[in-house]
Amino acid sequence: MIDLHPAPENRQQPVIETNYDVVVIGGGPAGATVGALTAEAGHRVLVLERSTLPRFHLGESLIPETYWTLERLGLIERLKATAFPKKYSVQFVNEDGKESAPFFFDEYKPHESSQTWQVERSEFDRMLLIRAEELGAVVRTDAQVLSVQFDGERATGVEVKLTNSDDSHETRTISAQVVVDATGQSAFLVNRLGLKQPDPLLKKGSVWSYFRGALRDAGRDEGATIILQSAGKSSWFWYIPLPDDIVSVGCTGDINYMFAPGSGGPEKIFNNELARCPGMQRRLKHAERATDYLTTKDFSYRAERAAGPGWVLVGDAGGFIDPVYSSGIFLALKSGEFAADAIHDALEVGDVSAERLGCWQEKYAAGVDLFRKLVYAFYTPGFSFGGFLREHPQFRSNLVDILIGDVFKPGVGEMFDAMGEVVPPTVSEADL
Ligand SMILES: Cc1cc2nc3c(=O)[nH]c(=O)nc-3n(C[C@H](O)[C@H](O)[C@H](O)COP(=O)(O)OP(=O)(O)OC[C@H]3O[C@@H](n4cnc5c(N)ncnc54)[C@H](O)[C@@H]3O)c2cc1C
Repeated sequence: MIDLHPAPENRQQPVIETNYDVVVIGGGPAGATVGALTAEAGHRVLVLERSTLPRFHLGESLIPETYWTLERLGLIERLKATAFPKKYSVQFVNEDGKESAPFFFDEYKPHESSQTWQVERSEFDRMLLIRAEELGAVVRTDAQVLSVQFDGERATGVEVKLTNSDDSHETRTISAQVVVDATGQSAFLVNRLGLKQPDPLLKKGSVWSYFRGALRDAGRDEGATIILQSAGKSSWFWYIPLPDDIVSVGCTGDINYMFAPGSGGPEKIFNNELARCPGMQRRLKHAERATDYLTTKDFSYRAERAAGPGWVLVGDAGGFIDPVYSSGIFLALKSGEFAADAIHDALEVGDVSAERLGCWQEKYAAGVDLFRKLVYAFYTPGFSFGGFLREHPQFRSNLVDILIGDVFKPGVGEMFDAMGEVVPPTVSEADL
């Protein structure tokens, strides 16, 4: 049951030492993954999460290629045992209400990884953190990192405020060989080190809520993510079915348009856009709202550098593109996995330089850029993937590769050459 303020679990907090091999700031999907895999590799790991568990988080739709990190973490059987809706496909509805044929992932990759899930984040993120603990990481919740300590340019540890069960506080300094920033959109180190590069082409904001009793499709379509364009492509809606007959419905558009002065509060903004999207009106006709409306803005950015001596960024802390292709959790898990392997290697050889800790960055950034280009194409006025594929049917599998997250293999990006100027250079290419 979706709950913006879930009841705190009765948690026995661990004893915290003054020194670890790895300190991870943030216990979302990225932080839990690094914590789990570095602990599994035999290192002494502390994960510090400021929230009380379980905690609400937006972003419920997984894409198929999350499977491989989840499998490495040993979580596939646990996911199969949840009530999370099974997601087999994604479907797009254009501004005229025309529904594309759903992209069924297993038509391109007949493997069990082609079925993924729509997750309730409070439960999914908790499952990952519990796994990190099982693999040997010390996980301290109610632990707000206040600063990262540096010796010159090298990160050497953190200062953290711990809240105890009797509501008392204590501030501790904890040293580490490697500090991992997994603080999500708070982007703790990126902000403090002035490394944030907002994406000027993606000044977007979202307003969303959760609904009960919305129209749900039947059979294999029931768990699909549906992306619906509003009239004039002024915005687009996501429709993500969750357990207990709840659906996450949100709308994303340009900040200057959707959140312009005088546009009203979140409910008014949502309803203004809903009035422009008959396909979503049809789905919400008999639905009741189950929570307040929520908003988030200006979430697209990248970090100028993703590693330094003794520190490394993972997940949203290192950058976020846009929600339209549900790439966030996949990239959080994948960067967590890449970083964990780099940290293990760095600790084994006693070299925590930026080069070692960030050795995966080039490959990772190239994969992220494929999602970014797809997002740019999505927002390009007059461009349609349907039209593009009719002219270039040979690229259908490249498109599906990106939709499922298979972005780290060679050749996938060739499709963008055929799109030509539809896709502007990404922020990283423009730097070159
Ligand atoms: C509108 C919108 C819709 C989205 N929809 C989807 C979707 O459908 N599918 C998808 O895959 N992704 C989606 N995302 C993105 C997704 O939610 C994120 O990419 C994902 O949560 C990133 O995981 P993370 O571990 O990097 O960060 P988070 O999940 O944000 O975790 C960061 C953690 O760090 C903690 N933290 C922060 N600061 C501190 C501190 N100082 N000390 C200690 N702890 C701290 C926070 O409490 C938090 O738990 C969406 C994003 C947006 C904006």
